[in-house]
Amino acid sequence: MSEPYRKITRVVEPVWVMEGAGVKLQRSIATGTLNYVDPFLLFDHFGSDDPNDYLAGFPLHPHRGIETVTYMLAGKVNHKDSIGNAGSIRAGDVQWMTSGRGIMHEEMPEPVAGKMEGFQLWVNLPAKLKMTAPRYQEVLSATLPETVTSEGTRIRVIAGNVNGVVGPVTEIAADPAYLDVTVPPGGTLTHPIESGHAVIAYVFEGSGSFGASDKMISGPRLLVFDLEGAVQVAASGDGIRFLLISGKPLYEPIARYGPFVMNTKAEIQQALDDLANGTFVR
Ligand code: MN
Repeated sequence: MSEPYRKITRVVEPVWVMEGAGVKLQRSIATGTLNYVDPFLLFDHFGSDDPNDYLAGFPLHPHRGIETVTYMLAGKVNHKDSIGNAGSIRAGDVQWMTSGRGIMHEEMPEPVAGKMEGFQLWVNLPAKLKMTAPRYQEVLSATLPETVTSEGTRIRVIAGNVNGVVGPVTEIAADPAYLDVTVPPGGTLTHPIESGHAVIAYVFEGSGSFGASDKMISGPRLLVFDLEGAVQVAASGDGIRFLLISGKPLYEPIARYGPFVMNTKAEIQQALDDLANGTFVR
């Protein structure tokens, strides 16, 4: 018996929000209509041809209890933090930052040849890892593995395993896959995903239909799928490019306040107290 295709349970149109010191971006998760998709807590798509939309950036701010994943398409984000890391995330690069108990960092977008575009995903940490030591996994574009199917579908593998091609980001609690998928015009792709894992897709170029549905989806849209079956996509005559992200739900209580996501309100208060007392970063 063949595995059924995953059904789309929600099609989310991103909303424009102002974040950081005045960055205009498109948010699909962590909005009034979609708080989270366990274990994913936030999804932002940033970028503009007008640097005034983003140059104010994200000056020094804290995180606790989560992982922030930045993947760039164009331009760069200059970053530095409280544990001595500094550098730039450039087109095609990934930064998978595990904040654990606490990190303070700044993230400042900058255009390259007039362009700046990228994504940030927040992944939850289970209760037992929320107060762990912070760590980074940084991957340069040139070392990111890519696999190409016989039909010409290209998949950049940031995390997860596609036909034996394993992404460089590993040892993440949510057991995630994070793929950048480009299906050529008229092409199809069927991608198996472990039963019970949450799946989201963010369509940002072209259009296509997913699963048994013949509804054509054009970007920018975030799709939420149900928990069973393989993801199947049929590209339109324009082709389609999307991020395909999956992970194991935690099924734990979520208490969130800005850049902190914990399990209880008391733990949020502790984070605020630690910031006020200067004991946030140890
Ligand atoms: Mn941040």
